[in-house]
Amino acid sequence: MREHEVLGMTITPAAAGQSNRPPPTDKTSLLESWAEFNAAFPSELDCREYMFRNAQEAGVVRCPRCWHAKVHRKYGDRMVGCRRCGKRWSFTAGTFFERTRGARPWVGAIWLMEHGFMVSSLRLASLVNIAYSTAWTILQKLAAALQIEMGIECEEVPSSRFWRVVCKRSRETPARSHPSAEQEELDNKGYYPTVSHSADVPQSSPEPVDGGPELWHGLGGIQPSHTIKNDVTQPIPKDDDSNEHGLERAEKIVYDCLSADPIHFDVLHERTSLASGALSAALTMLEIYGLASSTDGNCYVRAGPHPGQASGHQFPTPLSHTVSASQSSRFCGPIQSILRFFHGTSRKYVQPYLARCWCQADRARWGLGAAMQACFRFGPLTYAQILNYVSPPMVKVFVRA
Ligand SMILES: [Zn+2]
Repeated sequence: MREHEVLGMTITPAAAGQSNRPPPTDKTSLLESWAEFNAAFPSELDCREYMFRNAQEAGVVRCPRCWHAKVHRKYGDRMVGCRRCGKRWSFTAGTFFERTRGARPWVGAIWLMEHGFMVSSLRLASLVNIAYSTAWTILQKLAAALQIEMGIECEEVPSSRFWRVVCKRSRETPARSHPSAEQEELDNKGYYPTVSHSADVPQSSPEPVDGGPELWHGLGGIQPSHTIKNDVTQPIPKDDDSNEHGLERAEKIVYDCLSADPIHFDVLHERTSLASGALSAALTMLEIYGLASSTDGNCYVRAGPHPGQASGHQFPTPLSHTVSASQSSRFCGPIQSILRFFHGTSRKYVQPYLARCWCQADRARWGLGAAMQACFRFGPLTYAQILNYVSPPMVKVFVRA
């Protein structure tokens, strides 16, 4: 077992006894897990030692002068010496943990992630006794290291699918606007692929967001909004008036566009002229009412008790009591997690939060040692890169099978 090997490497006496522990489960509370952390890593030296052992496992401990991998050092020391040429250097130089001060806040935050806990910056700050801003930076950097690992097990969907969690402003939010204006601006600037009215399949997808750290370091694939020419403005249809059947206007429009054949989200976006946030909201409500369901590849079909009477006057009445788990949004899990643990986010940082949701949900992938190894695979990451990051138009999300 990989996690046992990784944990078994920790040479603190307290941690050594835990190498046969079962895989982490959600049954332990955060505070219980934190007590375990404190028992396994009583001091800063223990944390640094654990970090060093992981760096060695990741193969990043190499003499910068002669590339030799064998070093001598004291327990918990950040400085190491080359056994061949005698060169001394800090083992975190040139790695993800370059220029970090204490190892304990990092190892603690990673411990909680690897045990399936979502922790806010405020919580982390109080647990390890650091400033809120330091805790925020640690968690954002860790999210970046997770995010870059999002591969085929994750789906790529328009960020507008997560409109419900966008309730905080960022410097990308247009002045004097609601946080959701950032998404609407993106929709109106044509970042999403356009399709002809005659085709039900998307012609092309935007640039993929996966790839190596270089792409992430390219800051997410879209320009900050202040560099985008403000030349296209579309009126966003208001959907505050509901029809006689109890559905809002946008929901009726979307329902009328749906049929028994799957239609892609982007086609609906084009045909309904709704902003993608409003379209996403309408689709979610129709799914909840049992009038629509999503299929593979971000497509939708009409569902419900009266499939043949959509455009007529006998539009079905929403039946909220018929809601079932299968009819609700497939992205409920991450949406609820982001709302519950972080009280929402800005559009700018939707993707890093989705990466953290993946870590929480995919326990088989992110067991003990996995996140720490991901950090060493990632390489150096600066505070400025975190600040400049903007979630791409298409974000990756893990949906539990
Ligand atoms: Zn050397």
